[in-house]
Amino acid sequence: MSTSSTSSQGPPTSIETRLFINGSFIPSQTGKKFPVINPATEKLTASVYEAEAVDVDLAVAAAQAAFPAWSAKGAWDRAQLFFKLATLLEGANSELARLEAVSMGRPVSQYRECLFSVSVSVSRLLRYYAGKAADVQGESSLNTPGFVNLTLRQPFGVCGLIIPWNAPISTLMVKLAPCLIAGNAVVVKTSEKAPLTGLLLARLIQEAGFPPGIVNILSGMGPVCGAAIASHMQIRKVAFTGSVRTGRAIKKAAADSNLKKVSLELGGKSPLIIFEDADLEKAIPAAAASIVTLSGQMCIASSRVYVQSSIADEFSKRLVREIELKGSNTAGNDPLSPATVRGPQVDKLQFDSIMGHLKEAKEAGYQILTGGDRDGDVGYYIQPTVILNADENSRAIKEEIFGPVQCLSVFESEEEVLRWANDTEFGLYASVYTKDISRALRVAKGFEAGTVAVNTTSPMVAMDMPFGGWKSSGEGRELGPHALDAWTEIKTVLISL
Ligand code: NAD
Repeated sequence: MSTSSTSSQGPPTSIETRLFINGSFIPSQTGKKFPVINPATEKLTASVYEAEAVDVDLAVAAAQAAFPAWSAKGAWDRAQLFFKLATLLEGANSELARLEAVSMGRPVSQYRECLFSVSVSVSRLLRYYAGKAADVQGESSLNTPGFVNLTLRQPFGVCGLIIPWNAPISTLMVKLAPCLIAGNAVVVKTSEKAPLTGLLLARLIQEAGFPPGIVNILSGMGPVCGAAIASHMQIRKVAFTGSVRTGRAIKKAAADSNLKKVSLELGGKSPLIIFEDADLEKAIPAAAASIVTLSGQMCIASSRVYVQSSIADEFSKRLVREIELKGSNTAGNDPLSPATVRGPQVDKLQFDSIMGHLKEAKEAGYQILTGGDRDGDVGYYIQPTVILNADENSRAIKEEIFGPVQCLSVFESEEEVLRWANDTEFGLYASVYTKDISRALRVAKGFEAGTVAVNTTSPMVAMDMPFGGWKSSGEGRELGPHALDAWTEIKTVLISL
């Protein structure tokens, strides 16, 4: 254990900084550490042990040793541990919220309310997959005369999970829960920008009584620890959430090693179309919330909004008002304070990248309807920003900015806007607001995206429905029953009578 974090909500919380391997917390083999910086204060929160390839090897060996007994357990026995962990997670909600606040700057206020919170979604996910434990099943066929044929669904063995920083616990849990319930053992690498909640989860996993080695949680750098997981010969599947660039590297490393299975949840540049008959009372707050939540650091953020010309003036004025309201930190900007609504960007790198986009938009002469600058002198805060009518081929429209920057464009026709909406390498999430059911269905069918939201928008995701990307936004599906299939291999058994 090491440092402590101060909190305006309670006593200092001690912070675990070691690696979790084979059921115990241990320093990394090299003893090397890396800093976790609080993006609200730019000060050091903790120095965390850094896993390298040698630590990955230790974790994989522990997982391999633990796998046979775990996969042979009855489904309900595995489920019982999930129920225990879910309860422990709920009890640790405030501690998790504080750790995310001091490592990635997410306001504790958002931790309770939004989709990514522990109380709302993560423990529910565990209970959902615990309830599905016995659904890991094959099929049977009598179609070949003289045979009974079966399929068996069996776990892969040791799997690797590589996690981003923007929603560290929920992006981890959507993988971990179905992976474990299907009988696999795992080696997790959390993001170097937000490793602390993963280590707290490790403590809860230990407390819940999971067998040592079934879950190993490592903190480390992508090109070192992450790459060692992606290319490990004993890891049979790797599931990744993060950027398109890293997704490519992981897929290549998997192909160049043992051709392990890969699932990828990647970036987005999600369109939101507002037709002239939309219910603006609902559409405007939703559009604003989508870009203000997590300070725009959300893969499914509605970062491109298209509004029909006949309502464009009214919509843009009201959208700006709403974004200014939702994004204003009148009560202060300390992520640890329950009154704070908007946190900083995660680190200087992200901050500089977003500021670069804003500079470019200004130089191009685009109208900035609100925001456009940093917010304050300390911390990586950026004002929620709306850019009007950026060129459809500009970086503002084409690239994932991953910050509180929304591009608002005006369209004339359904055909035109659908073409713009789909003219992107991404295909993660797309939304439409209209009261015309035929148009809603036409547009839903026309969108090239893994999830389409009608008269709602992100962060709406349904736990029991598949989630994933078309085009460069990913490969495979998470959530729902589909995820159970994704964490098992199929074996066909042909039985001659
Ligand atoms: P990132 O790609 O920089 O890093 C993600 C993880 O990959 C980190 O743990 C990092 O250490 C690791 N990594 C980096 N290089 C690696 C390598 N060569 N080999 C193996 N691992 C490596 O992404 P990020 O900045 O952490 O997250 C932001 C991105 O994640 C955005 O693009 C966002 O859209 C995406 N995201 C997608 C979803 C989704 O469900 N589709 C959800 C959340 C975030």
